[in-house]
Amino acid sequence: PPPLLSVRDLRVHFPTEDGLVKAVDGLSFDLARGRTLGVVGESGSGKSVATQAVLGLHSPARTRVGGEVRFEGEELIGAPERRLARLRGNRIAVVFQDPLTALSPYHTVGRQIAEPYRRHRGASRREARERAVEMLARVGIPRPRSRHDDYPHQFSGGMRQRVMIAMALVCAPDLLIADEPTTALDVTVQAQILDLLMELREESGSAIVLITHDLGVVSGFADEVLVMYAGRAAEHGTAREVLGRPRHPYTWGLLTSMPRLSAEAGRDLVPIPGAPPSLIHPPPGCAFRPRCAYPKEVSGPLECARDRPEAPPGHGPACHLEPARAEALFAERVLPR
Ligand code: SF4
Ligand code: MG
Repeated sequence: PPPLLSVRDLRVHFPTEDGLVKAVDGLSFDLARGRTLGVVGESGSGKSVATQAVLGLHSPARTRVGGEVRFEGEELIGAPERRLARLRGNRIAVVFQDPLTALSPYHTVGRQIAEPYRRHRGASRREARERAVEMLARVGIPRPRSRHDDYPHQFSGGMRQRVMIAMALVCAPDLLIADEPTTALDVTVQAQILDLLMELREESGSAIVLITHDLGVVSGFADEVLVMYAGRAAEHGTAREVLGRPRHPYTWGLLTSMPRLSAEAGRDLVPIPGAPPSLIHPPPGCAFRPRCAYPKEVSGPLECARDRPEAPPGHGPACHLEPARAEALFAERVLPR
C-alpha cells in the first residue's frame, strides 16, 4: 500500500512586490501510518508553508503550488475544495501555535469540538455533545461536563491548547499536524502538552507531523526528523541518526545553538552566525554556504558555491561533504565544545 503521506518535489512560490518568494522549493518525504515526524528549522525555513500546502491551505493569494502531495495515494494538490474539506478536521487535522486565532470567541468550546464530529460523522447533537465531553476529559480538562459550556477566553493558554487538541482529535484523524503547538506556552505547560500528544498518539495510532524551531522538542518525541533550510530538506533521518550522528553543518548549528540541548550536553551555546538567506534571491549552490564553516572540507568535483546539494532519496543530508569526513568533523569540532 502507498505511504500515508507522500510528498514529492513540493514547491510553494508566491509573488511579492520584491519578486517571487520560493518558500518551499523542492521538498520530498514519506510518512508511514502511526509514525511521528519532527520538522525542524528556523522561522522562514518553509516548514509551516509546506504543511499548509499538504492541507490545501495555501494562502497568500496567487500562491503557486507544484509537485505532489499524496495522502494514501490520492493527489491533494489541485484536488477540489470540496474533497479537501472532507479530509480536513476529519482524517487530517491541525493544531496551531495560537489557539485563540483558531478557536472562535463566540462559541462554547464544547460546540466547537462537537462541530467537526457532527459534520464529518453525521452525529446527532446529543451524540456530538457526549463526544465533546469525552474529548475534554481525554485531554485532561478538569470537570469536562461543566467546562463544556465555557468560552475559549475562560481557559488558560495551556488549557486552550488542550481544547485545540481535543478538537483536532475528535474524528480520530489518521494524520495530525501540530504546528509549533507549545511555542506560546511556558516550559512546564509545554512539557505537559507534549506528554499529552505522546499519550494520545499511543491511543489513537495517528501519524503526527510536529513542526518546531526547537530541535530539543523533537528529541524523545519524533521517530524521524526532517531539518529544513531555505525551503528545502537540509537533512532527513531517524531521530537517532539526526540527533546522534548528524551529517549536515546546519543540523550541527541547531544542536549547538539550542539552550536546552547545550545545557544537557554541558556545552557552551554557539549561535549559528549570519541569517537565513533571501528566498527571492537565494545564494547559488548551497543555500547554507554563507553561514557554513566547512566548504573547504569538501573534496570531489562538487562545489558549495556552485552546485546545489540534493538530499538523497530517503535519509541523508543535502551536503557535499563526504559521509566519513562529515562524521569526523562532527566528532572533532562540534561535539567537544
Ligand atoms: Fe556547508 Fe558545503 Fe555542506 Fe553546504 S554543501 S552545508 S556549504 S559543506
Ligand atoms: Mg511557522
